[in-house]
Amino acid sequence: MRFDRLRLNGFKSFVDPTDLVIREGLTGVVGPNGCGKSNLLEALRWVMGENRPTAMRGEGMEDVIFAGTSRRNAKSHAEVALTVDNRDRLAPAGFNDQDNFDITRRITRDAGSAYKIAGKDVRARDVQMLFADASTGAHSPALVRQGQISELINAKPKNRRRILEEAAGISGLYQRRHEAELKLNGAETNLTRVDDTLDQLS
Ligand code: ATP
Repeated sequence: MRFDRLRLNGFKSFVDPTDLVIREGLTGVVGPNGCGKSNLLEALRWVMGENRPTAMRGEGMEDVIFAGTSRRNAKSHAEVALTVDNRDRLAPAGFNDQDNFDITRRITRDAGSAYKIAGKDVRARDVQMLFADASTGAHSPALVRQGQISELINAKPKNRRRILEEAAGISGLYQRRHEAELKLNGAETNLTRVDDTLDQLS
């Protein structure tokens, strides 16, 4: 899945609307220490549904909202929009008639996150599954954090397998299997309850 554009507004140090066009080929982000290079990568993970504040180097998810400086007031919300290229028609049904569309995540203080795909309200899970089915996502090994290479070299075989599974495009299937197992467990619990009730009645 190709990303065309990343737009940030109020996300961490990007207090003003910022539009990053991602052209074909390799994109490098360079700049002095502390200018926001890692924040850009975090914005990408965040809009893809990252829900661990620690992965955003924060204590709570609201820490991604611009916190203010001596010259600028803090903001009440942050928004990131990612335009994805859909010419290979990887989007889920309902969004698949367009060559590109936006995925948007917005967080408002005390109100949590809201997601949209092509302007329609969706759940976090819908966004996460969309990227998992396209073999990418917030946890994709294609997004390489500082220090991640040495972590991978020292990783346990189980963690290395996750990378191969993602490359094979099956991480979305694992998520669906997990959800199916939860539903199955729920159904089994309900059946046990029905049996108990029938026993009491007979
Ligand atoms: P380095 O090259 O040192 O790794 P970098 O270019 O990757 O740096 P980042 O780590 O992306 O820089 O950005 C750090 C900057 O973002 C710091 O100045 C920090 O104060 C600022 N920052 C982080 N969160 C917020 C926030 N919620 N509000 C305002 N500024 C923030």
